[in-house]
Amino acid sequence: MVSVSSVDNVGLNTQGKIQQVTILGATGTIGTQTLDVISQHPDRFGVFALTASTSVQGLFDLCVKYKPLYAVMLSPTAASALEAQLKNAGIATTVLQGEDALSQVASHPDVDVVMAAIVGAAGLHPAMAAAKTGKRILLANKETLVMAGSLFMQAVIDGGATLLPIDSEHNAIFQVMPYQRTRILADMGVKRILLTASGGPFRNATIEQLRNVTRAQALNHPNWVMGPKITIDSATMMNKGLEVIEAHWLFNATSSQIEVVVHPQSVIHSMVEYNDGSVLAQLGNPDMRTPIAYGLGYPDRLVSGVSSLDLLKIGRLDFCAPDQNMFPCLRLAYEALDAGGTAPAILNAANEVAVEAFLADQIKFMQIPALIESVLSTSDIEAVTSIPQLVDVDAVARRVARDWLTASIDTH
Ligand code: NAD
Ligand code: MG
Repeated sequence: MVSVSSVDNVGLNTQGKIQQVTILGATGTIGTQTLDVISQHPDRFGVFALTASTSVQGLFDLCVKYKPLYAVMLSPTAASALEAQLKNAGIATTVLQGEDALSQVASHPDVDVVMAAIVGAAGLHPAMAAAKTGKRILLANKETLVMAGSLFMQAVIDGGATLLPIDSEHNAIFQVMPYQRTRILADMGVKRILLTASGGPFRNATIEQLRNVTRAQALNHPNWVMGPKITIDSATMMNKGLEVIEAHWLFNATSSQIEVVVHPQSVIHSMVEYNDGSVLAQLGNPDMRTPIAYGLGYPDRLVSGVSSLDLLKIGRLDFCAPDQNMFPCLRLAYEALDAGGTAPAILNAANEVAVEAFLADQIKFMQIPALIESVLSTSDIEAVTSIPQLVDVDAVARRVARDWLTASIDTH
């Protein structure tokens, strides 16, 4: 196993030169917050490329404001529509289209920094392209590590890339474990990682209530404003499960070294316990502009626009253990990590199908873990060998998940 080794490269190309940034998933919540931080530092950052799946108006507005060299839309019709609108508005941005174009703008020689903020497995290829070409990668797309952790980490090392975690918990861990390189945790005197979780909107619900929660209730996260997929993942606690797997790859941690602690206020973003009894934590308001600014500026600290933490107003910080019965997704993620090989990729694919189905009102909330468990238990787990293999595994798991959906929708 490898770890975030290439942080050693940080700072090499930051001497006065404007850093050219590609934002994958620019219209999303992470994408727009990244642009917000960048716009506070025009002396440091330029916008090279912005990408989105289908939101023409969203990407058009961003092109008008930030005037990137390139804009990429996943869908060809969306790309044509954007091109026409930009031409009318007299904006000189070049519009590209399709999956390959995402990788092109992530690996272009003129790009220094890539914010990987596409949601889901779709983020894998462009993140790999950025890794292979030695970019500074600000990784928000945790699904890349869940699907292909070993291959992605190796690509980071081989490509001489710099990997900075943006997920708030992993960014916090990175901040309090500064000497982490290729070493194993025990050699650095680390006892365990305490990954904090808000517990989501259903922290205090009963299992009966959980069975009947609506889409709107699940989308109403108490602390964070996020895209719909990660918001549902937070409600099921699959998000924390994916983050356990993410921490495993980023920090060379075994599953038994990663403990989830529910902390409803989301003020402590995670902690590291050392052998001498010290526990180091990173605190701040729940605002993703802090980890984004940290990733953009590292090793410098940049103004992010985040307000000061008012501990007196917050008054208290609470902690409790997660309830594995209420949130089986967390258990499923630990089991997939322990099973190893392609199991986390299968977990991820089944979860994406389940979340889409829940958002489309096709299944109930507690059917999300039922679907994932069924797909995992009927799939063969193999050793990971290549990205094309993982793409196949992902497609097969989605097919099995859709068959489960068809059968379950028929019987209800
Ligand atoms: P979002 O839904 O708000 O935005 C997703 C972006 O990806 C959009 O720009 C969309 O156009 C693009 N996209 C979607 N599907 C695509 C596809 N198939 N191909 C190309 N582009 C596609 O999502 P978000 O909340 O910004 O989250 C993005 C990533 O960051 C996720 O992996 C999420 O887990 C992670 N993350 C988000 C937060 C947060 O606070 N939002 C925190 C930690 C980690
Ligand atoms: Mg997180």
